[in-house]
Amino acid sequence: MLLIGLTTFQIQSGHERAVRTASANLADTARITEEQVRGSLRVVRLMLRAIAEAPRNDTQALRRYMATRAKIVPEIRQALVANAQGVVTIATAPQIEGTDVGEYVFFREARVLPAGRDIYVAKPLPIGLDGSLVILISMPLTGPDGRFDGIAAVSLELGFFQALLKSVHSGEDGAGALLATPDGDIITRDPEPEVFAGKNIAKGSAFAQHRDKGGAANTFVHVAATDGIEKVFAIRTLTEPAMPPLVVIVARPLNGVLADWRTEALTMAGVVGALVLTILGLTGLASRHLIAMMASEERYRGLIETQNDLVVRFTLDERVVFANEAFARAHGRDVANAIGMSWRDFVYEEDHDATAQAIAEVTRPPAFRATVESRMRMEGGLRWVSWEGAAIRDMSGRIIEVQAVGRDITDWVENRERQSSLLRELDSSNRELEQFAYVASHDLREPLRMITSYLSLLERRYAASLNEDGHQFLDFARDGAKRMDMMVLDLLEFSRVGRVRDALGEVSLAEVISIAEENLRLRLVESGATLSIAPDLPVVIGSHGELIRLMQNLIGNAVKYRQPDRPLMVTISAERSESGWTCTVADNGIGIAPDYFERIFDIFQRLHSRSEYEGTGIGLAVCRKIVEHHGGRIWVESEPGVGSRFRFTLADQPAQSS
Ligand code: ADP
Repeated sequence: MLLIGLTTFQIQSGHERAVRTASANLADTARITEEQVRGSLRVVRLMLRAIAEAPRNDTQALRRYMATRAKIVPEIRQALVANAQGVVTIATAPQIEGTDVGEYVFFREARVLPAGRDIYVAKPLPIGLDGSLVILISMPLTGPDGRFDGIAAVSLELGFFQALLKSVHSGEDGAGALLATPDGDIITRDPEPEVFAGKNIAKGSAFAQHRDKGGAANTFVHVAATDGIEKVFAIRTLTEPAMPPLVVIVARPLNGVLADWRTEALTMAGVVGALVLTILGLTGLASRHLIAMMASEERYRGLIETQNDLVVRFTLDERVVFANEAFARAHGRDVANAIGMSWRDFVYEEDHDATAQAIAEVTRPPAFRATVESRMRMEGGLRWVSWEGAAIRDMSGRIIEVQAVGRDITDWVENRERQSSLLRELDSSNRELEQFAYVASHDLREPLRMITSYLSLLERRYAASLNEDGHQFLDFARDGAKRMDMMVLDLLEFSRVGRVRDALGEVSLAEVISIAEENLRLRLVESGATLSIAPDLPVVIGSHGELIRLMQNLIGNAVKYRQPDRPLMVTISAERSESGWTCTVADNGIGIAPDYFERIFDIFQRLHSRSEYEGTGIGLAVCRKIVEHHGGRIWVESEPGVGSRFRFTLADQPAQSS
């Protein structure tokens, strides 16, 4: 009797129950899918972060670094960095460097991400090298001044999420899973990702109902927007604050769900049979979920375990629950051995407080992440590690663990310290030298003046009693004193560069050249020189007085070292370089042999005797000091008998130390 009653109940309520069971199962599946999507996004995010934090000045090194990072995820087509204007500066496929991506949504949206979020997932675009659809994930970069400084991005094959979606749905006709942007653009879907990727399902769909109903998870029975089939839907929105609120949808056709019930009703010989079937069905579905989850977890773990970066996860009461090979190896332990220890066992005592603070930050809104540099007690001694921590939540969204990914930055830290101590030493010794040169040259002029005046006195008083030799000796002595005075004056001028500093400001090179030209007018007219000055000379940041001196010395030398048998032509031009300007002062003078290209910039180095050309050999040394003071460098290109090209760079931001 009971059996019959139950059977009747079973059949009557079967339809409703079948839908309810399917909905509940699908809701579980959607939750697992969401977790997996989050895991995959976390891997991409860690990678983008590593690229974002890598130094960007050495293009080749960064390109190599990006290529090795990108290999962690096989579906990555390429990785790129674009500057604040949207121009690709570095890419693993160098042919796209220089491309303007400023108008693409993955650039524009990364620029305006809400606070606390640092990655943007764009709907697929056909910008793969072969025109196929790729998913772009981007992260904004921040410059030293805290402002937007471009993006780091990766393009991924649709397969990146699709493989995961495939593993969660039931596989029957009309069943499927999809991932969409918060606006309802399909990122990918299984089956038929190529057909649906990029399509919008925001209107009149289960997606719309989910959005209107609010909340993170919903189930509906609805006619699918993509294929017109009535289905059971389970929908979830990613709610982790740092993540983009992507939407995961899993669906089963109502027909399939009811088919289960029909089969159930038809084959049901009694309650036992029905129960067995239901249980079998449930366990079947559940084990499929489990296998899918394990496969994805396995994949995620595999990625982490094979990484060179250190990965460790610990509970809020500080116990390590996961450590990858790299972490264990660095600390001279087995993975099994590290588990159960406290993170404090690995971190150097002096850095416990800073580390604990960072961990506390990870568990707090809005960021739920933090970075810290800590010294770790590693096998070979203390090593500096830069850690990035993120919160790990359980299914209900509660933070249960902290995962930290770290990179050994000891070499970099040591280099940084060595460099700043060297700079400090250099700075103080430079200052001492300059002080010395200044005092020496200043004070030397006094005894020199004495020598010169006594020589004049000697000549006036004793001229009559000196023979011709005596007069010649006096001339030599006076000449020597005069030359020494010139050298002392030059030395004084040299020591003044960068020391007596007029304020740095905007300086028009054209104006500077015209003042130098004016100062040299007599010599230019006498020598019949033609000066050809490019019309598009820039305005640079620098010292007005020093730049006049620089141009005057270079033009003056061109006049001094001209070829006597041809009219002198001096050409001045400037071209834009990566970090500033390269200026050229070219002449058609006597030229310089390559052996002397370096030496001529040293103090008091000359290639000619005084009888050939006047001078002390300090002009180019002054030029070099001025250019270096402006953060640039100077060099010469020349062919003897043909002419010389003196070239120097001026950085956009001049060096502040002299
Ligand atoms: P100075 O002109 O007083 O000798 P500089 O430091 O200005 O000192 O120049 C160093 C040397 O470089 C000069 O002696 C000269 O031989 C060479 N030099 C400089 N400018 C030119 C030039 N435009 N053409 C050929 N040689 C040059």
